[in-house]
Amino acid sequence: MKNYLLPLLLMVTSVSLAQSSKDIYDIIDAVSADRIRADVTTLVGFGTRHTLSDTTSNTRGIGAARRWIKSEFESISDSCEDCLEVFYQKGFVPKGDNQRIVKDVMVVNVVAVQKGTRYPNRYIIMSGDIDSRVSDPTNFTDDSPGANDNASGMAGTIEAARVLSKYKFENSIIYVGLSGEEQGLYGGKFLAEYAKEQGWDVMGILNNDMIGNIRGVDGVVSNRDFRIFSEPVPPTETDRQRAARRFYGGEVDGISRQLARYVHKTTKTYMPEMNPMMIYRLDRFGRGGHHRPFNDQGFAGVRIMEAHENYTQQHQDIRVEDGIAYGDVLEHVNFEYAAKLTAVNAINLASIAWAPPAPAEVQIGGIVEPSAILKWSRSEGAAGYKIYWRDTTSPTWDHYRYVGDVDEITLEGIVIDNFFFGVAAVSDNGFESPVVFPNGIFRN
Ligand SMILES: [Zn+2]
Repeated sequence: MKNYLLPLLLMVTSVSLAQSSKDIYDIIDAVSADRIRADVTTLVGFGTRHTLSDTTSNTRGIGAARRWIKSEFESISDSCEDCLEVFYQKGFVPKGDNQRIVKDVMVVNVVAVQKGTRYPNRYIIMSGDIDSRVSDPTNFTDDSPGANDNASGMAGTIEAARVLSKYKFENSIIYVGLSGEEQGLYGGKFLAEYAKEQGWDVMGILNNDMIGNIRGVDGVVSNRDFRIFSEPVPPTETDRQRAARRFYGGEVDGISRQLARYVHKTTKTYMPEMNPMMIYRLDRFGRGGHHRPFNDQGFAGVRIMEAHENYTQQHQDIRVEDGIAYGDVLEHVNFEYAAKLTAVNAINLASIAWAPPAPAEVQIGGIVEPSAILKWSRSEGAAGYKIYWRDTTSPTWDHYRYVGDVDEITLEGIVIDNFFFGVAAVSDNGFESPVVFPNGIFRN
């Protein structure tokens, strides 16, 4: 009897592995450039989506835009047996809070939550922005199409919800339109604070800001390159953690950097035609984005965006000057490219939402010994663990070993000094958590 059972079990395991990667390819194929084009066109059609613009009209201004986004999420929910919980999340900003707030304003985010079946309080988030601006950041009346910045990210987020709502996930996924970005990252701040108050276990945010331009101001045209920005270590670390890092390492191994490596790896695995560029900085030089307020709360968060920006087509009054057509208009958005970056998001949301929780505690030892030793806390629902390591100068986790359902491993002959190490939890069908860099040490 046993002899028959064993091969059968092995067969079941290999079948589910094949299914899991098929699901990922199906998700990539399901993302539609045409639907993204239609949604960007609708968003541009609201004239302006400036945070301080009109909220009463049903055809113009940010009020009309957010009501439309909410109704889109609701109709997606209607077609998946109410799988999305859709609501406004808001915060008040008084006139003069900074120079860009020239009148009192209620900053309103539109949130859609797809609850996880097994870990409903664990969240992975995809965001885009609702609001737009022109040359003068306080001009809330002139036409401000914001087609690429950031109707592209908003439309990608809605499309990801359409595609992923056809599946069930163990962890929760949030699709959100954030507002007040151009006035000072207000929407992200309000939602990150809300997440903290609610006790949400936020695994990370993939913030999409400008995912539709392929013609760079540098003359480069590429529909393959994109950037993943991540800060090196969290701003919330303690003095003790900072002091320890000097002796044990981790200068480029904070939680946001691990999320960036996860996105990089998932893309290379399933969309090898794309060229993800990890950028080792919080954001563009001196500029901001909506992942930052999540980082401020101690959550992992990265910015996903085009590789080649065009500054004549963002934050500009629509005009022609010296033969250059300025303005963030519909004609400059490449919808096939926006669909590819949407697919990058969707497969990463799915992979993380199907993965078990990352091990909470990972300890490393092996000082003045010939082998490195790792010990970790087991995660509920993990079928096993993968040990990753890399040269200290490498940006990516280049080596790994699957070790099964254990909580300790000795890597024989691998000297602790010469590599960085991490541990990921793996589900029975192969989905992995982000890698956890050791957060403790032991001496034998
Ligand atoms: Zn902007």
